[in-house]
Amino acid sequence: MSCIFCRIVAGEIPAEIVARGDGYVAFLDVTPLADGHVLVVPVAHVATIEDLTPAHADTLFQAVRRLAGPTRAAVGAAGSTIGINNGAATGQTIPHVHVHIVPRWEHDGAGSVHTIFRAGPRRPVAAVGNAIRAQLGS
Ligand SMILES: [Zn+2]
Repeated sequence: MSCIFCRIVAGEIPAEIVARGDGYVAFLDVTPLADGHVLVVPVAHVATIEDLTPAHADTLFQAVRRLAGPTRAAVGAAGSTIGINNGAATGQTIPHVHVHIVPRWEHDGAGSVHTIFRAGPRRPVAAVGNAIRAQLGS
């Protein structure tokens, strides 16, 4: 088992675990973007959101919902940015789904999710909507 998150889940390597439940583990990132930067991972080793079973997805996001408030309160933050790098092309370096909960403060110098992307030409919204609905089969 070489996946570092699977090894944390299994207790093979130490981590600052803040919560553990049926199907998930939450621990502090060892290179935090801010105090209280929590990672929430499913126990199951799956690379992307698309690979999660519906039940595992429910468990993961229930855990994120449960942790967001206490994590923010613990460090006196005003909010949090919650994000997932979903796939290697997005910067996901460990192919085991993990949700970042990063506490935020007013004027902390970090941007919103929107600041990740540069302005540029985009396909018409209606055409993209049609393409997604076609993929969904609806
Ligand atoms: Zn894993």
